[in-house]
Amino acid sequence: MVFIDGWIPVLTYFSAVENGVCIMAYQIDKDTCIGCGACADACPVSAISENDGVYEIDADTCLDCGACEGTCPVGAPKQA
Ligand code: SF4
Ligand code: SF4
Repeated sequence: MVFIDGWIPVLTYFSAVENGVCIMAYQIDKDTCIGCGACADACPVSAISENDGVYEIDADTCLDCGACEGTCPVGAPKQA
């Protein structure tokens, strides 16, 4: 499903920016995260990086698509 995988982030990007104000705000709760890496694999724009077992979302790259939240087994990614 290359078409869907390619267009959902694009459409989400435009819906996430309203009146010139960016409302993208996914963050990973470090206390909840178990470091499995599933979110990083699921992110369509590689916005999630790992450093010493700690996973973080680059807010400037994140498209607010929610794929990480849907993939995480413990619900650590949340919209702030
Ligand atoms: S919401 Fe999650 S999966 Fe989607 S772009 Fe942001 S970090 Fe990546
Ligand atoms: S999928 Fe969830 S538990 Fe796994 S690394 Fe990402 S935030 Fe952490």
